[in-house]
Amino acid sequence: MEAASIKRLLEQKSKAELGFYPTPFYRLTNLSKKLGVNLFIKREDFSGQSLFGGNKIRKLEYLIGDAKEKGAEYVFTFGATQSNHAMQTVEACRKEGLTPILYLVAYVEPDEQDLRSNLLLDRILGAEVHVILKNPGETEAEMSARSVKLAREHMDKLAKEGHNCYEISMGGASSIGSVGFIDGFVELAEQAADTGVEFDYLVHATGSGGTMAGLVAGKKLLNHPIRIFSFDVIGHDSSYLDSSAKLGNESLVWLGAKACLTAEDFEHDNQYFLPGYEMPSEAGNDAIRLLAREEGLFLDPVYSGKAFAGMLDYIEKGKIPQGSNVIFLHTGGATALFAEKEILGNLLDK
Ligand SMILES: *Cc1c(COP(=O)(O)O)cnc(C)c1O
Repeated sequence: MEAASIKRLLEQKSKAELGFYPTPFYRLTNLSKKLGVNLFIKREDFSGQSLFGGNKIRKLEYLIGDAKEKGAEYVFTFGATQSNHAMQTVEACRKEGLTPILYLVAYVEPDEQDLRSNLLLDRILGAEVHVILKNPGETEAEMSARSVKLAREHMDKLAKEGHNCYEISMGGASSIGSVGFIDGFVELAEQAADTGVEFDYLVHATGSGGTMAGLVAGKKLLNHPIRIFSFDVIGHDSSYLDSSAKLGNESLVWLGAKACLTAEDFEHDNQYFLPGYEMPSEAGNDAIRLLAREEGLFLDPVYSGKAFAGMLDYIEKGKIPQGSNVIFLHTGGATALFAEKEILGNLLDK
């Protein structure tokens, strides 16, 4: 499909104007020289709507657009206590006059007397926050399932009182949310074309999979030659690719295009997430310091730092050959730099 036809489909959808697009796209001169690749960065962290932007805003433009079209009053969503998605959903709700309710699971237990990072912002934004603490013997998956169950009960109660509730899945990973990154890919492809450089690789962090599904769907629709390397920060197994292909196909269909994705369309790497989600890695922290000291910009320890570390390792091993033209998609998350010590680890040791 031509970009213009995709844009026409996108324009037919209800959308809340939350971000400031296109986000900046430019070359990282110092790092390009140091690494031996031609490295550009796409600054989704500059999406708006506040200083603490990121990749969730594009998804929320379509999700909140849909919520408003459906007459929602309350918006429920999920995540970890320091979820970027949850905080950005609250911002979006405030701007659009909806009431946000969060059900957040505590991988890292928050200190009520010393709230940090996104939880602090959620509080300033006045969100109704339900923190789900881990029960003894409960797995993280069980804790997460319990948070959804409690939220659904809450939604049922509000519905019985005559209120209209809208549920947004974790990370905004849904057919509607992922359309944001079909949109995002079209925007990036145009910016890339304007530079005259033929880009070989697009690198980004993947969590819920919504961004990856949208990017890969956008690439496929445009028949764009760039390879997309998705570095997993949670450590999903290969079943993730089937579910992501399904998600991308649902987005394509919701948009009015044809489903065309299979698991083979994804290039996903789950070797760089350890020791675990929201647990800092040595290499991720090295990457944060490198970007800060070479380019004066910030990555985050949970997502972008680990993806950047994966990319650096690919460059070192020649999986991304010297001289390649590479784009790093900065997905945001810098509030994590002000999170609990458990999330930062030894960032300040070097
Ligand atoms: C949520 C998030 C991601 C991952 O995006 P998904 O669409 O959930 O896969 C990457 N980086 C940051 C900073 C995020 O907040």
